[in-house]
Amino acid sequence: ATPAATMVGTAIGARNGVLFKGGDVLERVKDVETVVFDKTGTLTKGEMTLTDVVAVGPAADGSGVVTADDETLDEDAVLRYAASAERNSEHPLARAIVAGAEGRGLDLADPEDFENVPGHGIRATVDGKTVLVGNRKLLSDAGVDPAPAEDALRDLEREGKTAMLVAVDGDLAGVVADADEIKESAAEAVAALRDRGATVHMITGDNERTARAVAEQVGIDPENVSAGVLPEDKADAVESLQADGTRVMMVGDGVNDAPALAAAYVGTALGSGTDVAIEAADVTLMRDDPLDVVKAIRISAGTLAKIK
Ligand code: ADP
Ligand code: MG
Repeated sequence: ATPAATMVGTAIGARNGVLFKGGDVLERVKDVETVVFDKTGTLTKGEMTLTDVVAVGPAADGSGVVTADDETLDEDAVLRYAASAERNSEHPLARAIVAGAEGRGLDLADPEDFENVPGHGIRATVDGKTVLVGNRKLLSDAGVDPAPAEDALRDLEREGKTAMLVAVDGDLAGVVADADEIKESAAEAVAALRDRGATVHMITGDNERTARAVAEQVGIDPENVSAGVLPEDKADAVESLQADGTRVMMVGDGVNDAPALAAAYVGTALGSGTDVAIEAADVTLMRDDPLDVVKAIRISAGTLAKIK
């Protein structure tokens, strides 16, 4: 493109909240063949709320778990342990658990020995007891069998919720679940990309069932969903899609997404995303709207010439 065309494209982008990091980026975007969306905060609003608390365990009537030292854990006790343990975590899942517990008027304890296990959950000491909050792998690695909670997990995950297991002093205690809302324009954006002939994928650290429930709601094929992807493996996932020369655009918002944004043919960050993601990206969408991915492609292709 001529320098004048580049200036016009950049200006139209800026007016539409689509920031291209230079003329070469503006040129490249139109050639994208596959678009990979991060789930949380990109296709969804990333505003988690606590929706469910379930006491699970040896007491089959659901009345609560009796731990080794005879403490009965009902739903409030499960939530209090989970929320107290999560107090030092900045993760949106953790913030929702703490807010939900406070909303229910629970008196939280001060955790000690807080430890983050990236991609899996957290561990902390609460009232002298070791509390785990996280996924199946977190518990099984610690020698706690998550199987008795499987029915509860399955039901919650089918609804697209992120369900987390809670263990107290080596006993499975229950499940807490957070839900996130899908962005209004997510399905329309996926449909518009597919209409243009692009293949649409989703990648997430969340579990398979939750990921598929969200994918179904936005119109992404189940075979194009990669779930349970650890932060350090997101870039590898993009690189394997690009191995045959396919031009991939990665769209994400988190610190977790930065290496994948850098690895992609085009990295697109959301304006509300973390600075690390924006720095690693080639394009920034100031409105956080998935439909602006389509706009970016149309501006690059010169088919969005009208300025409203
Ligand atoms: P995402 O890619 O969706 O942002 P993460 O890689 O941060 O997900 O986490 C993957 C999974 O690990 C979560 O779905 C959750 O099951 C578990 N997890 C991570 N952090 C926490 C936490 N602070 N508390 C509970 N569970 C967590
Ligand atoms: Mg995200």
